Amino acid sequence: MTDLINEMEEYASTNNIPIMQRDGIDFLEEYIRKNNIKNILEIGSAIGYSSIRMALVDEDIKVTTIERDENRYREAVNNIEKSKLNDRINIIFGDALEEDINGKFDLIFIDAAKAQNIKFFEKYKNNLEKNGTIITDNMYFHGLVFKDNSEINSRDLRQLIRKIKNYHEFLKDNKEYTTTFIDLGDGIAITKKN
Ligand code: SAM
Repeated sequence: MTDLINEMEEYASTNNIPIMQRDGIDFLEEYIRKNNIKNILEIGSAIGYSSIRMALVDEDIKVTTIERDENRYREAVNNIEKSKLNDRINIIFGDALEEDINGKFDLIFIDAAKAQNIKFFEKYKNNLEKNGTIITDNMYFHGLVFKDNSEINSRDLRQLIRKIKNYHEFLKDNKEYTTTFIDLGDGIAITKKN
């Protein structure tokens, strides 16, 4: 399996596919192990890297993952087949904001279009098991959240950063949930219902 993981990391790096950074995914695996998480919903599969790594933590873990980009979806399907984890990873082709997902999950991992994080959170919070966790990646967005607006030339990028900052505030000020922000990988938020 190490070969497949290395192959995916290399492929992602060569083709500019944003998969989780190594220390981020290591942290996520450890979190899953320590908290005995068995049922995971992931928003944003890309090529299936994090779903495969999460499913490999324990043999009774099930992952449902959603990807809207057709090429990436196909590559993910291919990688999941290679990993022989088809019976435990259910990949859905579609826009997560339009899908209807039934059932409850111990972990909801939000790792899709960063400008939509509040929408993903609001849409999927009802799919969270009591005592479940919502984890969001890229809270730093490659360090750009720490830059002054005037240092970011692109208007689209400025808007995206503003939305990521809004999401940070949304989590921080949320009275129903408590969030811990972890300084690892590209910045990870761990949210639990109060
Ligand atoms: N979790 C993956 C990993 O670490 O291996 C990386 C996911 S990548 C950061 C984000 C992915 O989310 C992209 O492939 C993108 O096409 C997908 N995406 C963005 N918005 C989406 C949406 N609304 N519904 C489904 N997928 C979405």
